[in-house]
Formats: sequence, structure tokens, C-alpha cells
Amino acid sequence: MKKKYSIYSLVKNSLSDNQNWKKMWRNPEPRKFYDVIIVGGGGHGLGTAYYLAKEHGLKNIAVIEKGWLGGGNTGRNTTIIRSNYLWDESAHLYEHSLKLWENLSSELNYNIMFSQRGVLNLAHNEHDVKEIRRRVSANKLNGIDSEWVDPHQIKKLVPIMNTENCRYPVLGASYQPRAGVARHDAVAWGYAMRADELGVDIIQNCEVKKIRTAKGKVQGVETSKGFIRSNRVGVVASGHTSVLAATAGIKLPLQSKALQALVSEPIKPVINTVVMSNAVHAYVSQSDKGELVIGAGTDGYNSYTQRGGYNIIEDTIRAIVELYPIFGKMKMLRQWGGIVDITPDASPILSKCEVEGLYFNCGWGTGGFKATPGSANVFAHTIAKNKAHKINAPFSVDRFVSGRLVDEHGAAAVAH
Ligand SMILES: Cc1cc2nc3c(=O)[nH]c(=O)nc-3n(C[C@H](O)[C@H](O)[C@H](O)COP(=O)(O)OP(=O)(O)OC[C@H]3O[C@@H](n4cnc5c(N)ncnc54)[C@H](O)[C@@H]3O)c2cc1C
Repeated sequence: MKKKYSIYSLVKNSLSDNQNWKKMWRNPEPRKFYDVIIVGGGGHGLGTAYYLAKEHGLKNIAVIEKGWLGGGNTGRNTTIIRSNYLWDESAHLYEHSLKLWENLSSELNYNIMFSQRGVLNLAHNEHDVKEIRRRVSANKLNGIDSEWVDPHQIKKLVPIMNTENCRYPVLGASYQPRAGVARHDAVAWGYAMRADELGVDIIQNCEVKKIRTAKGKVQGVETSKGFIRSNRVGVVASGHTSVLAATAGIKLPLQSKALQALVSEPIKPVINTVVMSNAVHAYVSQSDKGELVIGAGTDGYNSYTQRGGYNIIEDTIRAIVELYPIFGKMKMLRQWGGIVDITPDASPILSKCEVEGLYFNCGWGTGGFKATPGSANVFAHTIAKNKAHKINAPFSVDRFVSGRLVDEHGAAAVAH
């Protein structure tokens, strides 16, 4: 039975002091065998399990998570959602996702707080102007709502921005009105709740130690709760994917680096869109609570410490204060890092591999939150049919052998 969130259930539960809400998902012990095992309880993994059950009728599925749901990058990101990528392949993937975002609260009957407040990508030099204008034209050819805006229009959208009196003046921007932000935890919880209802076992606090293979086929996973058998395993473990792949003898073209974000004390609404700048490297939006949500860059070296270097946030704050002098005296409340998985072409891997029954969904780097529903949807198709969906076919791991790369450094860079 679908758990309903309605005005009626809110009133009814408030009368009993909110003590009688049903648990959002069960907490089962793992079975000995599953038709499909998904490793990683972030948005992409939980979403994959949901679409496998809902659209492909598979019932015996487990999501295995070493910590808590959404405790990885899903719960650590700055939640920017957009689809204005350069190449057709990426535009199709991210736009597929954006369309799913637009209906996700209603599909899950759970408010993911998707807010289409628009995203500006600033241009600060001639190179930026050419690159962004080219991208806007490419987006239009793909039916994506992207437009070029001049500094005058930018000032109207964000009056507090200092566009002229700075080292890198703002020369223009791309603007995607349908882009925006969503509540990250809610995405994981919404998918988890609906997947659980469809019979998916969500197993938390269970670490996958090794992917067991024999004669070129996957056999299952060795976990902190024992061996679990399965002929199909999907690995969706962001920054730790290459570590897991190595246990099956597979080397993926991934680097794992810390990426940081920080939030300020809450203030009254001052900025009602999302602003990103690759060149000076700062991006900012304002949460519904009033905090500024600020994204920084990745460290220059591989690491698994979920923290990141202080020099990175210093540079980011310097850029933010130059672009918005009125933020100069604000206090920052929290800072954190997540381990992101970066490919050589800044595009994801959504793919089968040389081991039969083993699938990878990774390489989202600094920008995979926006892709959560779309990626989960096509990855479920890939696992269920043992064949890529036409949207994720270009994102096969083979492209690093064939050379058919989807280079999105301009659109992805370290910004989102
Ligand atoms: C600071 C920061 C800011 C970001 N900002 C944005 C943004 O604004 N917009 C955007 O689109 N993207 C952004 N991203 C990127 C985005 O967060 C990720 O690409 C996306 O959330 C990845 O989701 P996921 O479900 O694949 O991974 P995760 O949410 O990381 O889930 C993977 C899960 O796998 C689990 N796991 C790992 N190893 C094992 C194991 N051995 N056994 C069992 N479980 C395991 C982890 O515990 C984790 O919960 C940002 C990332 C960071 C860190």
C-alpha cells in the first residue's frame, strides 16, 4: 500500500504527537540470493532499484549500503540541477533526467522540494563567451531552454552581483530557466520508500568487501554480513567504485578526489536563482532556510578523506566575496567534503563490463546529482535487459578504448 502524504495524514499524525507515522522502509536481514544486487544506497542506487521493480517487474532486489542512505555524495552536494550540456549524448541524458525531476514529487508522492529557479553560468573572458554561446546554440538544437543573457539582464536577475568592478568582470551568461535545485536527502528517502514498497530489500550498515567472480561471470558479493549470491550486480558507489571494481580484477578510468561545499548562517532572501562561475570558481544558491549554499572545487590530488584542503575553500570564498561584496561579513556555519569519481572526459560511465552480470554506474564526478532520476532509469534498463538503453549507450566504458569520448569539460568542469 502506497504511503500517502496528504493534508489528512499530517493533521491525523499531529493529533497523536507525530508518534504513529509508519516506518518509511523496512530493515531486513539479507537473503541468501537476489536476482539483482545494487551496491550503494545513494540516489542513483536507490533509484535504480525503484525503476527495476517498477518498470521491469523484478521483485527480488537488494540495495546494499555500507553506511546510511544518502550518506555519500547524495547528501553532500549543492543540489544544482540543469541539462545545458554541450554534446548531443549528454544533452539527451541530462534532459531525460530533468524531465523526470519535473514530475518526481508526484511520482513518489513525496516532496523532493524541486525548485526551478533557473541557473546562470557566468562568462568572465572572451574564451568563456565563445564557449558558452556555442553551448547555448547546441542546447537550442536539442530543444533545451538555454539562452544567452547580457550583463544588464544578469543585474536584473541578481541585483547584488558585482559585474564590473572586479578582476574578472561578468561579460554575460547562459541562463536555463527550468534548471534549479532539490532537497537531496528527500530524493534518497523518496526512492527508498517507494522501492521498499515494491519489495526491494534495503540493507544498511553492510559493507561490500569483494565482488566474487568465476569464469568471467559474477557470483555475488562478500559483505560484512556474509556472502550474498546474485548473477547480476550493479555497482553505484561513486568515489569508491574503482576500489570495488578492483576486487573483481577490473581497472576503471576513475580518479577519486575530495570536493567541498559550505553553508552560511541563514539570512533573508537575497538571491533567487543559482549562479555558477567556472572561471573564478564559485557557485552559490540560497536554501529555503536562508543559508547560502556554496560549492568549492576538488583537491588537486586523489584521496578518500571526506574533508578537502583549506586552500580550496579560501579561494572559493575570495571569489564569492568579489562577486557579491555584501556577503563579505557573513559567517560560515558548516563545511564538508565528498569523494567524487572523475573520468578523463568528465562524463559518466553507465555500462556493462567484461565480467558477465556486472554493471557500473559511476564517473559522475562533480555533477551527478542532477542526473539521479535519468541515470537510475536507464541503468535499470541496462541491468534488466543486459543491454544499454539508447540514452546511455554512448556512456559505455569501451569509449576509453575506442576513443569515442564525450568531452564535457566545458559544461561540467569542476562546476555543476
Ligand atoms: C560537495 C559536493 C557538491 C556537489 N554538487 C553537485 C551539484 O550541485 N549538482 C550535481 O549535479 N552534482 C553535485 N555533486 C555530485 C553529486 O553529489 C554526485 O555525483 C551524486 O550525488 C552521486 O550519487 P550516487 O548515488 O552515485 O553516489 P552516493 O550518493 O555517493 O552513493 C554511493 C553510496 O555507495 C556507498 N558505498 C561505497 N562503497 C561501498 C561498499 N563497499 N559497500 C556498500 N556501500 C558502499 C556509499 O556509502 C554511498 O552511500 C556534488 C558532490 C559533492 C561532494
